[in-house]
Amino acid sequence: MTSKKPRLLTGDTPTGRLHLGHWVGSVENRIALQDEYDCYFIIANAHAFTTRMDRPNEIRQSVIDIATDYLAVGLDPKRSIIFIQSEIPAIAELTFFFSMLIPYPRLMRNPTIKDEIRDKNLGDNYPFGFLLYPVGQVADILAFRPEIVPVGEDQIPHLEMTREVARRFNQLYCGVDSHTEDQDYLKKGGLFPIVNVKLGRARRLVGIGSPGPDGNLLKMSKSLNNAIFLSDDPDTIARKVRSMYTDPKRLKATDPGTTENNPLWIFHEMFNTDQKWVEEAEERYRQGTIGDMECKKRLIDVLVELIEPMRQRRMVFEKDPGQVLKVLQEGTEKANVVAQETLILAKKAMQQDYF
Ligand code: ATP
Ligand code: MG
Repeated sequence: MTSKKPRLLTGDTPTGRLHLGHWVGSVENRIALQDEYDCYFIIANAHAFTTRMDRPNEIRQSVIDIATDYLAVGLDPKRSIIFIQSEIPAIAELTFFFSMLIPYPRLMRNPTIKDEIRDKNLGDNYPFGFLLYPVGQVADILAFRPEIVPVGEDQIPHLEMTREVARRFNQLYCGVDSHTEDQDYLKKGGLFPIVNVKLGRARRLVGIGSPGPDGNLLKMSKSLNNAIFLSDDPDTIARKVRSMYTDPKRLKATDPGTTENNPLWIFHEMFNTDQKWVEEAEERYRQGTIGDMECKKRLIDVLVELIEPMRQRRMVFEKDPGQVLKVLQEGTEKANVVAQETLILAKKAMQQDYF
C-alpha cells in the first residue's frame, strides 16, 4: 500500500458475464494500464440488486463469473486488486454522506438513468435503490481516490456526478476555494481528486440485435440479450454472428446494402485486424457484389481468434472456483484498507471524528 503509482478504479455489475462491449469499452484499457497504475477492480454486486433483487443466486453466480472472466482476460491479481463491493463497508457509509451533496432533480436529469429505465423496461416501478445506485457509484470510485476511471460512454454522466460531488465535498469540508482548477484540488487541501474518465477504443459498442423503439441500435449489454461473451465457444459465436442484425433492406445476399449503422461492419471495423479487406469488402457490400454469409464467416473467424484464447484460460480457472474466491478475498482485504482510510479522512473533514 506504499506504492507511489497513481490509482485507477473501474469495475462491472455482476449481472452476467463480460462481453465484447466491456472488452473495447474498458477491459482493454485496464490490461494496458496495469503496470502504470495501482488498479482496483470492483465487482459491484450491491448494484446488481437494483434490477434483480429477486434473484440473489444469480447475482452470487455472476460475481464468480465476472471474477473468472477477469482472470481469463488477463487482469492479474499479483499486480491489481479485485474485490467485492458489498464487503467494503466504507462504500455504504460514504454513499449516505455523498447523497446529501447531490440535488434530487440533478439525479433525475441523468441521461443514463433515463436510458436504463427505457432499455431495461423498468417502467414506473423501479425501486428507490435504482436511483441511489449512481450515488453508490460515486462512493465506489471516491473511496479509492483514483486518478483515472476507464469506462464506456454510458458512464460519463455518473463520472460527471462523481466530479461534482468531489468538488463540493472539497469546498464544503476541506475549505477549497470554488474557483480552483480541477487538477489543483488536492494541492489546495481537498481530500478527493476530480477524477478523469478514460474512454475505450469503442465508447459504446452496439449489440447484435435489432434497433430499439427509437430506431437506434442498442448498446451491447448483459441485460439486453444482445451480447457476444468473452466466454462464448466457437459454435456459439458462429450462431450469434449468423443471426446478427445487418441491413434489413438487403433482401437477397447480393443486393446492394448499407454499411452504415450495420453491426456486421461495425464489428469488422472494430475487431478485424485486416482493415484493407474490410474497406474493400464494404465497398463490394454497398455494390451488392459480396454476400452476407461470406462477410459473416470472416467475422466469425476474427471473433473466434480473439475470444478462444480467453476461453481456454477461463476453463482452467473454472475448474478451481476456490482459487477465484481466494483472489476475491485477498483483494477485498487490501481494498478495505484503502477505503477505510478514506472514510476516516472524510469523517475528519466533516468533523464527525469523535473518539
Ligand atoms: P447491465 O446490462 O447490467 O447494465 P452492462 O453490459 O451495461 O450490464 P456494466 O457492468 O453496466 O455492463 O458496465 C461495465 C463497464 O463496461 C462500464 O464501464 C460500461 O461503460 C462498459 N460497457 C458496458 N457495455 C458497453 C458497450 N456496449 N460498449 C462500451 N462499453 C461498455
Ligand atoms: Mg450497464
